Amino acid sequence: MKISSLSSLNTWVHVPANSDFTLYNLPYGIFKYGSKKPRVGVAIGEHILDLSYLYKKGYLDQLFLNENVFKSDSLNRFIALGKPYWTLTRKRLIDILKEDNGELRDRKEDVEKALIPMKKATLLMPVKVGNYTDFYSSMEHATNVGKMFRPDGDPLLPNWKHIPVGYHGRASSIVVSGTPIHRPKGQTMPDGATTPVFGPTRQLDFELEMGFIVGRENELGTSITTDQAEQYIFGMLIFNDWSARDIQKWEYVPLGPFLSKNFASSVSPWVVTMDALEPFRCAGPIQDPPVLPYLRFEGEKSFDIHLEVYLQPEGGEPQLISESNHKYLYWNISQQLAHHTVNGCNMKIGDICASGTISGATENSYGSMLELTWRGTRPIRLANGTERKFIEDGDTVIMKAYCKKGNLRIGFGSVQCKILPAI
Ligand code: MN
Repeated sequence: MKISSLSSLNTWVHVPANSDFTLYNLPYGIFKYGSKKPRVGVAIGEHILDLSYLYKKGYLDQLFLNENVFKSDSLNRFIALGKPYWTLTRKRLIDILKEDNGELRDRKEDVEKALIPMKKATLLMPVKVGNYTDFYSSMEHATNVGKMFRPDGDPLLPNWKHIPVGYHGRASSIVVSGTPIHRPKGQTMPDGATTPVFGPTRQLDFELEMGFIVGRENELGTSITTDQAEQYIFGMLIFNDWSARDIQKWEYVPLGPFLSKNFASSVSPWVVTMDALEPFRCAGPIQDPPVLPYLRFEGEKSFDIHLEVYLQPEGGEPQLISESNHKYLYWNISQQLAHHTVNGCNMKIGDICASGTISGATENSYGSMLELTWRGTRPIRLANGTERKFIEDGDTVIMKAYCKKGNLRIGFGSVQCKILPAI
């Protein structure tokens, strides 16, 4: 279908103007409502469409599923069905929700049970994450960090334009939007000191990232090419990779970040599928010097996703502090997955690969406090008169993401997380 015909697709469900959750989007998530067990739903306007209920009532019989994969507390079973099923399910859901289709619309009792007001539901972690990898794919971010952490050397290390640099993070501490986080404690080496000290981090930071969810497994010993990569990706979500900069600076040599990163990452509850992202494909930055053959790719593999970060002090209003875009990433997600598996590493369904902080070229597009305040030397002024070098107790960080092209708009909703004092 052409974009022009898609953007004029209307649904009989009320979708407010500028909603992230248009008929064209239909992102998947896990929700809990009333006394019922968690289940799979898709977001539409201000509602969640309960797929488990639709399955039970026969609305999804055309999919010939062997079991109700939607009666589950994670998307993993649905994802495991594979890309043809993701696409078929999407088509069927668009069909059911189209304004001229009365099969569900006209059965008031079913509509009442299938459409849950999002406000009244609790959104849960969308996937069971087995493994989490964090890339470092924004050249602007890597350059800024290099300038601050290694002022005497080249900001970009010699491998950076040849390798989509990444490290293995920790899956157990990935939490869904709304889950508060306590300020982490650890070892730091204060500037000018000769012995380290222990205590709560004084440089708590967010990282504006997007993650993709692995949707298909490759066998141990085999690799995924850049051509095949998107067949192995279910969708994307917003990813806030919390970081403690003072702990990071002291611990990261020579094996990279450890406790400065693994205390928490926050994700948005809705996973936007690659099918929904299709119209927002675009070209990425030119890669120079040329990359090795296994990292070359054909066509457009980047995505035009507008990103925003808001900081909300305790008792105050959210204030926009950064605007960036997923398309700024030097290394695209297909290259990330090809690189991750080129050695035969096997990916699992539900694994998350995050992009690394997504910074743009301008100072208002930096994706972390470290860069926005240049390690605290240029504090951000807030509307309530206070200023921030890093994130303080009581602050809430909110990230939003959406794509827009003509009348067509899809969004990721938001991920928000409040910081509580150290325990
Ligand atoms: Mn990160």
